[in-house]
Amino acid sequence: MSRKEQRRRVGILGTGDFSRALAKRLLFSGYDVILGSRKPEKKAMSAIDQCLCNVQLLSVEECIKSASIIFLAVHFDNVKELLTEHVVKLEGKILIDVSNRERPSSVTSNAELVQKMVPRCKVVKAFNVISAYAMENDYNSSSKQVFISSNSEEARDKVANIAKDMNFRPVDFGGLFAARRIEKHPLRLFPEWRGPLGFAVGVFNVWLLFLIYIYYIADSLYKWEQLFVKVLNKAFCLTGITTLSVTYLASSFATVFQIYYGTKHIRFSRWLDKWLKNRKQLGLISFALISIHVIMSVLTMSPTYFSSWYPSTAITVPANLTAPFQLKQGMWMNWKGEAACLVGIIAYVVLCCICATTFPSVTDTLNWREWRFVQSKMGHAALLLSVGHVLVMGLPEWLSKPQIIFKSITFMCSILPWITLLLKLLFSLPCVDRYVMKLRKGWERHEDKCKADCVRPVKHEGYVAIDMNAGKRMSCQDACACPDDKIPMMNIGGSDCACASDDLVLNVP
Ligand code: NAP
Repeated sequence: MSRKEQRRRVGILGTGDFSRALAKRLLFSGYDVILGSRKPEKKAMSAIDQCLCNVQLLSVEECIKSASIIFLAVHFDNVKELLTEHVVKLEGKILIDVSNRERPSSVTSNAELVQKMVPRCKVVKAFNVISAYAMENDYNSSSKQVFISSNSEEARDKVANIAKDMNFRPVDFGGLFAARRIEKHPLRLFPEWRGPLGFAVGVFNVWLLFLIYIYYIADSLYKWEQLFVKVLNKAFCLTGITTLSVTYLASSFATVFQIYYGTKHIRFSRWLDKWLKNRKQLGLISFALISIHVIMSVLTMSPTYFSSWYPSTAITVPANLTAPFQLKQGMWMNWKGEAACLVGIIAYVVLCCICATTFPSVTDTLNWREWRFVQSKMGHAALLLSVGHVLVMGLPEWLSKPQIIFKSITFMCSILPWITLLLKLLFSLPCVDRYVMKLRKGWERHEDKCKADCVRPVKHEGYVAIDMNAGKRMSCQDACACPDDKIPMMNIGGSDCACASDDLVLNVP
């Protein structure tokens, strides 16, 4: 056998679902695959899958002997039993652990435990985030990431090359310690969506209760059977516009934060950091809610449902009719209905364009400036148009009945969007914009940076909270003398200022 062929030979321990899918994929990627089974004589791989007829099926021992790179495709509970008698034979070999956990653990990982079982083997954590189905069927998967971690750099490189050959995107996570994070990955269930979804559900409930109060309790404007479309449609609209404003309000808060502390070299408070990171989810949720509102409105578009969008007509039928009476009736929208429709449609189209740019294939074609234009300028334009749509509907009522303006849903739902837009306008004023740009290019208002680092209570996870009452404001020389990678800290109850590294700070109870 040539050297090249030997180099591309890999072994797989186990003959289960994942093992077979992996073997097929490796075969199609040009590898010579050997499967290691406890009972090779009882298994016929080609009978299970014809594509596997070129795969050699050997005993576990022979498989380990024949390959220098071995995939461990068995459940973690069976690993110890399987490896115990082969510890010596595995010395110096690369063993790829693909196992997943049932529950996340931050204390250790399967891969670290495997490394303890075979200390002289180069254990690599990889491929656990790819399902057997994707491994077998999804050949156009160059965007699928394979996270790799190992204490051996050489082993990481070799496994990364195998992943590339299989048309996956390898991502180097460094040492085997990172396997804890990698093993948590398949157990995630949309963690980044939980906060935004919870927020949207909360806002929806608040608006719904408000609508029930004004339409059913304070007044009897609607029947209860109209709750499902007539009233819920309004709740979807109000929640959509509130969520859209909240999406864009985050960046204004970040700007206020940076202006206040006079620097961009400071971590945002945890809540603000989370809020900024959740903007994409908030934006998509608002788009979904507004889409529901659009569909419901289109389906119910009639003078009965949207009475204020159509002229009210009273038809008098003559009482003493002797001949058939024909009444032609055409119903056109009034200016309010037409204007509200126009602004609403444009707002929705702009929102659709923004939403389209969140698809990775579209995002990849945009440069940074285009991306910012769509997400910031077009986003605020969509918010302005949405608020314009509400304004057209509400303004005549606000002017005619100013005493009950707080009962007007159009007025109530416009407050937050207007605040968001006014803040954006304020920060776009040339003098403010110049100052913010200066800060974002790294300029610092030194005196305030000192105050920010020393006196600000640090609320990040695991950080010590600085006691504001006990703490004194530090002099700039003391506090700002820390190097960039250190954080100026103040002892609780004392006035000493010290520079602490991230690691040290994390250990403080
Ligand atoms: P499986 O279908 O149950 O196969 C497990 C294989 O392990 C068996 O076929 C068996 O092969 C071997 N084995 C060795 N010792 C064993 C023992 N004491 N008892 C039972 N079987 C033993 O499991 P799988 O779905 O292929 O998963 C294998 C590993 O891949 C797991 O760690 C899993 O977490 C990981 N994984 C699976 C997927 C997936 O989509 N299935 C995705 C990512 C990661 P022999 O009888 O030939 O020895």
